[in-house]
Amino acid sequence: MIAENLKKVQERINAVDAKNQVTLIAVSKTKPASDLQQAINAGQHHFGENYLQEALDKIKALKNQNLIWHFIGPIQSNKTKQITENFSWAHSIDRLKIAKRLNDQRPSELGKLNVLLQVNIDNEITKSGVSVDEIEDLITHFENFQNISLRGFMCIPNPENNEQSFNKMAKIMQKYSNLDTLSMGMSSDLELAIKNGATFVRIGSDIFGKRA
Ligand SMILES: *Cc1c(COP(=O)(O)O)cnc(C)c1O
Repeated sequence: MIAENLKKVQERINAVDAKNQVTLIAVSKTKPASDLQQAINAGQHHFGENYLQEALDKIKALKNQNLIWHFIGPIQSNKTKQITENFSWAHSIDRLKIAKRLNDQRPSELGKLNVLLQVNIDNEITKSGVSVDEIEDLITHFENFQNISLRGFMCIPNPENNEQSFNKMAKIMQKYSNLDTLSMGMSSDLELAIKNGATFVRIGSDIFGKRA
């Protein structure tokens, strides 16, 4: 079932006329390690998790399988140490303080942690992320960090205007030639996101089924 779903999602991705290479992140929050193992057996390597404790349990249970773990949930200060010690990517940086902690706590033998700035692209009060106006200033500070690498942006647009918002994100991306990663698109809108330059799509329910 999971293997079949993965195949269908990959076919949807392949069917879009993309300008960039697109990598599928299987978003496995709330799902047991046995579900992830099914996806791994079907060739999946990238996994996205939102909640630290359950993520750490799965990382441990599934070790030595060359997996790439992405932290995609909100990041509180008291979680930065374990995130930077256990993940390859953090998509949800919304404050400089969090970036600094991830940088300072990153074990040097792991190399750099890849990070994305989460952008509150529609300025919704209910969503986290930096506002579009803050991006330019914030980015200049990342030059000072030796152990994290700012690769690009992540956004979760309001579904009512996702096409415009993906496009807005793509235009912002064009201003920064040193950035190469755009994390956007979920189960319901991955095609639109890819058309607008997404390089990571984050797909949960269409792979693992509905969450409780
Ligand atoms: C849960 C989640 C997803 C996956 O959403 P689906 O609609 O299940 O594909 C993607 N990104 C983030 C940040 C999420 O929290």
